[in-house]
Amino acid sequence: TRPSFRMDTPSFPELGLAQPLLQAIADLGFERPSPIQALAIPPAVQGHDLVGISETGSGKTAAFTLPLLQKLDLARHVPQALVVCPTRELAMQVCEEIHQLGAHLPGLHAVPVYGGAPMDRQIRHLRDGAHVVVGTPGRLLDHLDRGTLQLAAVRIVVLDEADRMLDMGFRDEMERLLGQLPDERQTLFFSATMNREVARIIEGHSHDPRRIEVEQA
Ligand code: ADP
Repeated sequence: TRPSFRMDTPSFPELGLAQPLLQAIADLGFERPSPIQALAIPPAVQGHDLVGISETGSGKTAAFTLPLLQKLDLARHVPQALVVCPTRELAMQVCEEIHQLGAHLPGLHAVPVYGGAPMDRQIRHLRDGAHVVVGTPGRLLDHLDRGTLQLAAVRIVVLDEADRMLDMGFRDEMERLLGQLPDERQTLFFSATMNREVARIIEGHSHDPRRIEVEQA
């Protein structure tokens, strides 16, 4: 499924994105931002915390990936951005989109880290100097506990499909992960639905977040 377009949405260059990202967007053939992208990208680029609520297939991945990529300092080979996803499939998919949208960022290194795959390979990739780490909660904590993942330089964290992670029973893991991140950081929550449990974790771990909600078409 592709996000639906509205002709009154701004163009990608109007959202405050850097040239290498606009180039990748053009390469992918994205003509216009989807509604969640048009609404979420400008405040995210400006550094605000936010909660983006929009249905599956509406383009949420690029909505957080583009601001995240814009914030990286590629000269520093330490994790600066963390994306937490509910499943291995989603972590792989997000990592793939990071590589596509980051195709014109020289030396970009994004590493997926999920359960059910050998630790040693992930440890090697992490040691190679990842800028972005995308992973599932349990395996991320596993790496943290072993000291094979450092979060001290993380400046932006994305909780993707926060509602699903809570449904899957990852609340304690999410809390522990968020608790180990530097306070001086940007937090983006993306979710297809909003409920009390999602609201509670957002409240506890973000700073004056903007709420962006796209009505289902
Ligand atoms: P979500 O994360 O909301 O479930 P995705 O980010 O997976 O949705 O987006 C669904 C599909 O739409 C993907 O194949 C993605 O590459 C594509 N897509 C995203 N943004 C755009 C856009 N602005 N124009 C065209 N296609 C897009």
